[in-house]
Amino acid sequence: MSHHVRRNSPGTGAARMVSAATRRRLGASRAIASPVVSRSALTIGVLAVQGDVREHVRVLTGLGAHSHGIRRPTELTDLDGLVIPGGESTTMDKLVRAFDLFDPLRALIAGGLPVYGSCAGMIMLADRIAEGRPDQQTLGGLDITVRRNAFGRQVDSFESSLDFAGLAEPVHAVFIRAPWVEEVGNGVEVLARVPDGAAAGAAAGRIVAVRQGPLMATSFHPEVGGDGRVHRMFVDLVRQ
Ligand code: GLN
Repeated sequence: MSHHVRRNSPGTGAARMVSAATRRRLGASRAIASPVVSRSALTIGVLAVQGDVREHVRVLTGLGAHSHGIRRPTELTDLDGLVIPGGESTTMDKLVRAFDLFDPLRALIAGGLPVYGSCAGMIMLADRIAEGRPDQQTLGGLDITVRRNAFGRQVDSFESSLDFAGLAEPVHAVFIRAPWVEEVGNGVEVLARVPDGAAAGAAAGRIVAVRQGPLMATSFHPEVGGDGRVHRMFVDLVRQ
């Protein structure tokens, strides 16, 4: 398992934090799988109040979906699905409330809109947070407890190869000041865990990807590096 320990300031785009070698490797070996062709294109928004919006739009577009950033309540109509990107969940929480998106988003999630949250997006979808700010709220929907910045200060950023339920080959996962899932409710399917091994330390076995009905979340950033398989899984979920 490769271990790239880096210190990064909050809010820096995820793509820039990944080594050029990683991008080359992933880009070369696993270009985004061929686009989902013909069938009528889905519209999958990316919540664009803060975080790494562009990378998700790029991957989703590469998979044949219509995708664009969402900043206003009026833009929430006509979505088939939504991605909540990585970024900083405390800031995202404040901004969704400031932009009057909090209640509409909660209503859409309650109504069954498929939503995929990556990193801070996972935190936004969690019903419960450990190490949240005292006033931090989430949209909720996933019956999980997430621990913010769970991997510790020494490993702000690292990369690991993970088995992922439903995918034939492991996913190269990029973690950036990531949460892990500390508890899951009965209806939650675990899709990936940190593999065992010395390098994983206390993180070994921790849950880092989950699904519950139309909601999916990963602690890591699959939008980095050109591997579209996790997004494709979400697109398939939206299509159902
Ligand atoms: N640590 C961030 C938070 O608590 C998440 C980091 C990320 O999305 N890359 O929101």
